[in-house]
Amino acid sequence: MLRVTEIFRSIQGESTHAGRPCTFVRLTGCPMRCVWCDSEYTFSGGEQIELEDVLGRVHAFGCRLVEITGGEPLAQKEAFRLIRRLCDEDYEVLVETGGYVSTETVDPRAKLILDVKCPASGEAERNHLPNLGRLRSDLDEVKFVIADRGDWEFALDIVAQYDLINRTKAVLISPAWGEIDLKELADWIAGSGLEVRLQLQLHKYVWGPDVRGV
Ligand code: SF4
Repeated sequence: MLRVTEIFRSIQGESTHAGRPCTFVRLTGCPMRCVWCDSEYTFSGGEQIELEDVLGRVHAFGCRLVEITGGEPLAQKEAFRLIRRLCDEDYEVLVETGGYVSTETVDPRAKLILDVKCPASGEAERNHLPNLGRLRSDLDEVKFVIADRGDWEFALDIVAQYDLINRTKAVLISPAWGEIDLKELADWIAGSGLEVRLQLQLHKYVWGPDVRGV
């Protein structure tokens, strides 16, 4: 059984996969409380669904790209089995995780998009830093949500300390929605000279920031 908030088909809004058709499985629950969280509706409720039925709904959408997200998807043990089953069926599987739970036993065929929580989130102390050591340069991406200059400097420190430019497929710099001037953030990125990329959440520009299931 999995506790599921929603399963839907849309375009991928984030990461280097942005713009691609994608089925999303959004699992319920998260042990963190980032102050700028845009997914608070996942903290409770949801529907208990058998693993086979989750797979059936994914099949029905017909997309080869599937993202397992939340909430914090890895907070549910059954999520690891769902990921494995989707990989067995040759789906291209993305796992977006808030970085609190160990990724050690995630099926290695899945591609990770690992958040590193910055200080303004209020949750930076809970980053499970060993996850950074497991990132793979050909598959995995790391994401920093930036709300202010302190977050940007924190991100730069972590990128340098863990050699993330060389050890990941992409370093994504994402503005906390409504919290930071985009031009200012773009200027910091441009001036850094680093191979990091500004990531806008495409779905919010297409459908608006509060629309769910898109
Ligand atoms: S980890 Fe994600 S879902 Fe959980 S509180 Fe932070 S932003 Fe929200």
